[in-house]
Amino acid sequence: MATSIESTVSARSKYEPVIGLEVHVQLLTVTKIFCSCSTRFGDPPNTNVCPVCLGLPGALPVLNRKAVEFAALAAMALNCEIRETSIFARKNYFYPDLPKGYQISQFDKPLAEHGSIEIATASGPKKIGITRVHLEEDAGKSLHEGFAGATDTTAIDLNRSGVPLIEIVSEPDIATPEEAYEYLTRLKEIILYTGVSDCNMEEGSLRADANVSVRPRGEKKFGTKTEVKNVNSFRFIREALEYEIERQVELIESGGKVTQETRLYNSVEGKTYSMRSKEQAHDYRYFPEPDLLPLVVDEKWRAQIRTTLPELPEARRKRMIADYGITAGDAYTLTLTRTLADQFESAAKSANSPKRVANLVQSELLGRLKAKGLEIEQSPISMKGIAEAADLLEAGVISSKMLKDLFDLCFERGKDFPGVYEEEGRPAQSRDTSSIEKFLDEVIAANPRQVEQYRAGKKTVAQFFVGQVMKLSKGQANPQLVNELVAKKLG
Ligand SMILES: [Zn+2]
Repeated sequence: MATSIESTVSARSKYEPVIGLEVHVQLLTVTKIFCSCSTRFGDPPNTNVCPVCLGLPGALPVLNRKAVEFAALAAMALNCEIRETSIFARKNYFYPDLPKGYQISQFDKPLAEHGSIEIATASGPKKIGITRVHLEEDAGKSLHEGFAGATDTTAIDLNRSGVPLIEIVSEPDIATPEEAYEYLTRLKEIILYTGVSDCNMEEGSLRADANVSVRPRGEKKFGTKTEVKNVNSFRFIREALEYEIERQVELIESGGKVTQETRLYNSVEGKTYSMRSKEQAHDYRYFPEPDLLPLVVDEKWRAQIRTTLPELPEARRKRMIADYGITAGDAYTLTLTRTLADQFESAAKSANSPKRVANLVQSELLGRLKAKGLEIEQSPISMKGIAEAADLLEAGVISSKMLKDLFDLCFERGKDFPGVYEEEGRPAQSRDTSSIEKFLDEVIAANPRQVEQYRAGKKTVAQFFVGQVMKLSKGQANPQLVNELVAKKLG
């Protein structure tokens, strides 16, 4: 058994995987790309349709300006060049949910090209090229469940037909399933920052297909690739790629040949299955869409769109590290979403120590969220609340023990920090020297042996006295003050 695992590992190390990703992202326009039907998700089937998106004869498409602007904005965020003139093309194929018998897409003159994004890898940052970003319309949806007669029929919902999509095609620069996962994570983060899509994978607003092949290390020529389709989470894509690489290596090592085909991933079994032989581009008989003029995005329009480009996550992290003196880890957590980063920055500006706000998020918030299975956006304690707590802690009004207790109460009651702090009667640790001295005198009188040890030079015993006083004060005393008084009284 050990031998077989070893031989698999050594076979695998002889080959290098080559991975490229195709990501479809639904744009958040109010209406469809070529008609004025609503793009709303979840409406009753076939209620958001018209002759254009039903593909009825004679109906003509009219391009949605907003879809172009969203697509161009996303492309700019991915460092692409926007082509001044791009061409819509018909991609011909038959599928029940494609009423026209073709999809309007872009082919040899896409909207944008030559982009890249940076990902983190074990050996440092790596640039992944983006070949192209093009605009196209979505198809409808075949339904196999959830309606009467679903056992022996398939129903078609054409609400999605004509919803605007961008397809983002990467260069085959991705070398491992881990890098694919990282690429998808960064890509989604960037798109979310631009606001052009909600990237909701459950609702199909982000779909990723992976092309993968293996070749002997050092070989320039690509091996035959397979495409893994319809995987509905980034984690499953990573698993599917791991399986597929292993499968291809084993196949080649045993004298077989990889067939170019489309495969489906079964996440329950952790395996991919052959679905159909992969079409070549010429199978689609692409030709320019005769019903649409060339799309011209001139310099002036590009400049206008560029003004709406927000600060992107990577740049924002760098700036936040410099502005607030926080760590890279803090910056990473705090920029997970644009909203969270906005909230942190507005809280950090009003807080006395932005760094302490960031620390509290890491040390006191994330663990509590994880224990409750909550995302940071669902936290009962807002960034403003954390800033207020950080200020109280910074000023020595509350101790870190008190802060922990108050945060626990916030999570128990599902309430923000300021409210809970009020409800608890604005607790404050005692800076009342006379009452602390009284407690300390009691402790000294009751523990002559420890006093002797301290005076004999065992200064660590001080912590014993501090602890006893904190206990007597029920955690209300300011520990720093207690420390000072212990040194004064015994010294
Ligand atoms: Zn329509």
